[in-house]
Amino acid sequence: QVVTRFAPSPTGFLHIGGARTALFNWLFAKHHGGQYLLRIEDTDRKRSTPEAIEAIIDGLNWLGLDHDGEITYQFARAERHREVAHELLASGKAYKCYCSPEELEEMRALARAESRPIKYDGRWRDRPASEAPAGVDPVIRLRMPQEGETLIHDLVQGDVTVANSQLDDMVLLRADGTPTYMLSVVVDDHDMGITHVIRGDDHLTNAFRQNQLFLAMGWDVPEFGHIPLIHGSDGAKLSKRHGALGVEAYRDEMGYLPEALRNYLLRLGWGHGDEEIISTEQAIEWFDIDAVGKSPSRFDFAKLENLNGHYIRHADNKYLTDIIAPHISAKEEITLDASGLARLTAGMNGLKERAKTVHELADSAAFYVRSRPLILNEKADKLLSEDARTYLERLLPLLDNLESWTEENIETTVKDFAQSQELKLGNIAQPLRAALSGSNVSPGIFEVMVILGKEETLGRISDQVS
Ligand code: GLU
Repeated sequence: QVVTRFAPSPTGFLHIGGARTALFNWLFAKHHGGQYLLRIEDTDRKRSTPEAIEAIIDGLNWLGLDHDGEITYQFARAERHREVAHELLASGKAYKCYCSPEELEEMRALARAESRPIKYDGRWRDRPASEAPAGVDPVIRLRMPQEGETLIHDLVQGDVTVANSQLDDMVLLRADGTPTYMLSVVVDDHDMGITHVIRGDDHLTNAFRQNQLFLAMGWDVPEFGHIPLIHGSDGAKLSKRHGALGVEAYRDEMGYLPEALRNYLLRLGWGHGDEEIISTEQAIEWFDIDAVGKSPSRFDFAKLENLNGHYIRHADNKYLTDIIAPHISAKEEITLDASGLARLTAGMNGLKERAKTVHELADSAAFYVRSRPLILNEKADKLLSEDARTYLERLLPLLDNLESWTEENIETTVKDFAQSQELKLGNIAQPLRAALSGSNVSPGIFEVMVILGKEETLGRISDQVS
């Protein structure tokens, strides 16, 4: 059975690259009928924060990437990690190294002077414990093979090899007894039964060492799939300006729907023919790791925005209302009751065709629930000339007389009135729009009147005539 995992370090928000890694792991597991697990790699005690953990979990929930089973917290497993290091020590696969910081610095300086990569020289590999200096706490290092090569059949990168002579004897336990990242990751991946490690290709070089650690313990080595990082639209490494932000910025500041972001992330590095709009069900059916490209993909806001527009147009009206309501409440400083929410929902059909973001949608819908008297924008103010106000005053009792407040009845009344005054419909419809929406643009005016309801419509018109 396939078991994947997403293993973020909670040192900041769930950034966009991490979200894509999570998505690919989630899809891969679902595609193969397997499990997708979440592991919080909180071993860096100084940089890991509860807020970051919350932001990551929140971001994953928002994107609908639910994990199976309990969350694994890496730090809580430190004892188990130590135990494995001691097992390796006992079997001779690891050894104690008593190098002082000064000695290590000398080694580094020498490597720099000879312009070769920095590498521990293995001086304690075979040195007897009797030579251990007094009062020095040793680190525990893995005894890596020195000959041959390590080969990884990477599911994305293909076969990649490194000469074992390049890999030094990595530290498993520090002198203070804390496990290193390399040790923790391997032990956790093994204990969690991970079969496929899918992650950013910045971890590819770690995979060689991790591979050796799995072998030293006699454990099955998982399959690896290292996905290329996301680049900016100009091909450079992703920076803030390019969109290297937390997913909550995509939600709160930029106003994207989770469906749109998920669809966009899916297409970022993976494809199925020319399909642009891919539902979750389709994605689960089609996704496989071998179709992930080897070259970095470029982040393109215009594409994301188009997708967002698509998902807004096709979204359920009630769902959109729930998303925009808090934005409107905050901006207009109002509390929305059931009738306000119902008005917004009814207004969605006339508004969602045009909106590219949740903010645009909220801004265009706010007039439905704005408190009276409306503040007019400049163009609306112009539309409501002295004459126009007079006409609206005359129209008011006719509307008031309507017994059944339907779009059809309203339209007939307004049209008949325009004719009786020898006006073009626009000359009455535009001032009406201004009075009812406070603006010169809105959905169809009769639709607006129905949605506002009779009382509110008459009230808003009265506000402009007296
Ligand atoms: N915690 C690591 C990171 O956030 C990921 C480690 C892994 O996937 O193996 O970059």
